[in-house]
Amino acid sequence: MTTITNHLPTTELQALDAAHHMHPFTTNDELAAKGARVITRAKGVYLTDSDGNEILDGMAGLWCVNVGYGREDIVNAAARQMLELPYYNTFFMTTHVPAIALANELAKLAPDDLNHVFFAGSGSEANDTNIRMVRTYWAQKGQPEKSHIISRKNAYHGSSVGSGSLGGMTYMHEQGGMPIPGIHHIGQPDWWAEGSDHTPEAFGLARAQELEAKILELGADKVAAFIGEPVQGAGGVIVPPSTYWPEIQRICDKYDVLIIADEVICGFGRTGNWFGSQTMGIKPHIMTIAKGLSSGYAPIGGSIVCDKVAEVIGACEFNHGYTYSGHPVCAAVALENLRILQEENVIDHVNNVAGPALKSGLEKLAAEHPLVGGLNISGMMASLPLSPHKESRAKFASDAGTVGFMCRERCFANNLIMRHVGDRMIISPPLVITAEEIDVFMTRAKKALDETYTALKEQDMLKAAS
Ligand SMILES: *Cc1c(COP(=O)(O)O)cnc(C)c1O
Repeated sequence: MTTITNHLPTTELQALDAAHHMHPFTTNDELAAKGARVITRAKGVYLTDSDGNEILDGMAGLWCVNVGYGREDIVNAAARQMLELPYYNTFFMTTHVPAIALANELAKLAPDDLNHVFFAGSGSEANDTNIRMVRTYWAQKGQPEKSHIISRKNAYHGSSVGSGSLGGMTYMHEQGGMPIPGIHHIGQPDWWAEGSDHTPEAFGLARAQELEAKILELGADKVAAFIGEPVQGAGGVIVPPSTYWPEIQRICDKYDVLIIADEVICGFGRTGNWFGSQTMGIKPHIMTIAKGLSSGYAPIGGSIVCDKVAEVIGACEFNHGYTYSGHPVCAAVALENLRILQEENVIDHVNNVAGPALKSGLEKLAAEHPLVGGLNISGMMASLPLSPHKESRAKFASDAGTVGFMCRERCFANNLIMRHVGDRMIISPPLVITAEEIDVFMTRAKKALDETYTALKEQDMLKAAS
């Protein structure tokens, strides 16, 4: 076996990466020409790259490392479990202690009668489970035609064929024959980008009422479920107006449509509650979980299911499951992560320290920086839409994403990770970030924004789309 280690020079690692590694959501030829940034280690909220730079991770990996990097308790929990029982399945009338314990803990943490857990390896897999589960639910109740699922444009629910179909990313649908039949997409509650001169409240209500129109168009006896992220994440951190979710809830109740809350990002403290559904006042029948469930230390996801649905599914053989459903090592890691979240009062920290510090720092940027056209924030997830003319929330004349990409590169150069979605900068740091670390974040973010602004001026790109 050839040995490839941290000690190889960066250029050599980049060449080896380009030679054999196909990256997700990447134009691999472009990346090969440029060279990927090689991350070698991490501690707390800081990553280290192969050149020794210390980078503040404003994205918690991919929205997932809620308790921060380098947690030895989690490492030890995984090692103990690997020695005791590294793997066993839960298919054929068997179970194991980590799956039992994690399901029980999740049932305790989840609101209301969300008391049952179907495990998966990821958020995508869990949403595939949900498609089959809600359709099976209605079929078992004698209504097999009640099978259509309504989602939103620009939603993100994963990248498998099923979950990618639930998602509303058109650039994903263009590849590989998506969406699958029976999935429909209504408008998203993105007031900043699409609300024109409506008040946020009126706009939120109008967007929710698109659901009622779609249900009536399809027929209520054909609609199995509505799926939504309490706060859209990958779409650009879109915090819906306060009128939105209560109206969605009213409509789903009225037409007997199940609600799937995709909590993959919002769950486990991100919005200042255990679940985004609590922050937004949603009463879902199923919650999709992944990411923060294990803080990214091991891949695990699942569906938390209410009594009513679990009862119906439990009465038939549900012909569905994954080799790694409830994987014992991943479940042990998730349990340890949940212990840390509880014993270190991480959600209190979000509400009393980190959340307020993040909010006030970003509010200052939104108010004072000429490039920042607004702020979307819920707890520890936020976005700053960039604009050439903030008063009118104008978009740039350049292709969407051009300016966002420039700003992300300036962040990178200043040892800060912010992602961009189109021309929005995305912020989702580890929940345990301290007030001092948030100060570092703000200093680097402001510098990156200043540099972007200067570059735009120099290149005559501060122009609004007509
Ligand atoms: C990331 C994400 C998913 C997909 O999870 P994977 O683990 O990447 O499959 C699903 N839903 C939401 C809201 C997500 O952010």
